[in-house]
Amino acid sequence: MPRVANPLTKVRKRLEACCFAEVNFKNLAKDKDKASDPDKHRNFYRSRVPIQREIVPAADEALDIACERLGVDRAMVHGFVDNDPAMGASCYDVRGNAVVSMTSGAIERFTIPEMTYVFGHELGHYVMPDRGLCNLRPDGKPASMEDAIIYRKLEISMDRFGMVACQDYKVAAVAFLKLHSGLGAQHITDDVVSYAKEAIKGYVQDYTEYLHDAFTTHPSLYARIRALSHFSESEEYLKLVGRKGGKPHAEVDAEVAKDLHATLDYYASKLMDDVIFDVNNHLAAAQVHFDGKCEVGRYDVHPQIKPEENVIKAILGDIQKTPADKRDEEVNARLDGLIRHAILRCPYRMTVHLEALLPKLADTKFHESAQKFALRFQEYLVKHRAGEQI
Ligand SMILES: [Zn+2]
Repeated sequence: MPRVANPLTKVRKRLEACCFAEVNFKNLAKDKDKASDPDKHRNFYRSRVPIQREIVPAADEALDIACERLGVDRAMVHGFVDNDPAMGASCYDVRGNAVVSMTSGAIERFTIPEMTYVFGHELGHYVMPDRGLCNLRPDGKPASMEDAIIYRKLEISMDRFGMVACQDYKVAAVAFLKLHSGLGAQHITDDVVSYAKEAIKGYVQDYTEYLHDAFTTHPSLYARIRALSHFSESEEYLKLVGRKGGKPHAEVDAEVAKDLHATLDYYASKLMDDVIFDVNNHLAAAQVHFDGKCEVGRYDVHPQIKPEENVIKAILGDIQKTPADKRDEEVNARLDGLIRHAILRCPYRMTVHLEALLPKLADTKFHESAQKFALRFQEYLVKHRAGEQI
């Protein structure tokens, strides 16, 4: 049988500029374009109104424009209306066919160019599926804070597909403000500068306030709007829409990374540092508990996160408070609790940390216990990513 060219290969080649950081086509999973059962979305035709020119003309026009500007074959794209007064859109099936939905609340309030922006974003999920880029649990949520950071980068990339589709930064920004507020044209302006001035007030210095935010899949609206503004001035975007000039891609990406860092990633990394710090000191305390001593210097494996003797002493003091026959159990329970924290926050960093620490303990009696800890960590990690309770 002759090999059929992948229709997305050309699209990806042309839209390389939409990639952000490690979210790029090279890193996609190998089975990314395996066609799924073509009948898989047939039930959508029974339960929803399809987006077609004769039935939902404005949305259909927007979807046509988005496909054309992205170079996606419209025949592979199946649009549907989600009967929901809230504003939103989604890309349900990214294997072989794109099944794109937009809520009735969004179609009612968006103009055709705004819908084009949002459809462009959703089609981005078809052109660049998330598989292989980060770990999502079966419920679709990022498996850890680190995976959420990657997913937020993916969303920046999707916004760029949206920009290529609508070709107007102001239109994209208003679509965002409408989506975020639920308001229609009558009540919302395109004054993104005033919005940015207000939004920035939400960013406080206490990083523990960001514990919930750090798991979110989407960057803050503030960072997304600014990212689009930067992208709209980039050399490669301007080339895609037939214009000259603009800033180099690397410069634009550096600006975007700075915003992502300032609005969330910096705080998330502090929350991760906390876990590495706790694991490190608890392992040192466990060594003192089981072996009667430890050389604190051996735990000095991270350039910023140093072991602290007073913290280790405090942990040992707490352990002493439990009855003598329950102390081993207490130490292991504490380490197990920390494994869970590390898996939720920073499994990649924890793996690297343990890989650096274990050889330093190789000639100690505690080495075997530390190895068991590392194995348990990997075992729990696999279970957690598969959606099992740990
Ligand atoms: Zn998205």
